[in-house]
Amino acid sequence: MIKINDLFFAPLIPEAQLLSRVNELAAEITTDYRGKSPVLVAVLNGSFMFMSDICKAIDLPIGITFVKIASYSGTKSTGEVRQLLGLEFDLSGKDVIIVEDIVDTGKSMAYLLDLLNRENPRSLEIVSLLLKPAALQEDLQIRYIGFEIPDLFVVGYGLDYSGQGRNLRSLYQKTEIQ
Ligand code: 5GP
Ligand code: MG
Ligand code: MG
Repeated sequence: MIKINDLFFAPLIPEAQLLSRVNELAAEITTDYRGKSPVLVAVLNGSFMFMSDICKAIDLPIGITFVKIASYSGTKSTGEVRQLLGLEFDLSGKDVIIVEDIVDTGKSMAYLLDLLNRENPRSLEIVSLLLKPAALQEDLQIRYIGFEIPDLFVVGYGLDYSGQGRNLRSLYQKTEIQ
């Protein structure tokens, strides 16, 4: 059990399991994009650690870039997505893969798909480390999913609770038990 600010968190997915699943996703991408040169677009801030691990395990000549959007406040999705940092990579004609930490309501991904489709990529897919199926409100096609998890707030492996917890190596879920 760990405490971050006022909340308690219990272990959910240990580091070794995260890393072995990340390597499997990277192997799938390597196979599916053989002969191509995809561009990974990671969504800051939460995806930085997932991006760092998955990009090293993809055996292809890839491009890497970042966008920053925000919809969360505390432990709840606001449903209103804002872009905080734009694209400086030319995605037209490229095979683009969005690298996301977690899909919750799906509103952030719906917003970003819309935004990136306007750049006329050749293809556009999503790899999300985590998905909360019970929270999903959008009709999204997510090509690669690491883990499906319960509809609980999680931290670690890049994800924060009010600015803290991103550097934790494993994933933790919010708990009422102390
Ligand atoms: P959505 O737009 O799908 O509701 O939310 C997507 C974003 O909200 C994620 O990319 C992530 O940044 C944040 N988010 C969603 N669920 C969680 C969670 O359980 N923990 C944390 N730390 N962030 C989350
Ligand atoms: Mg995110
Ligand atoms: Mg956050």
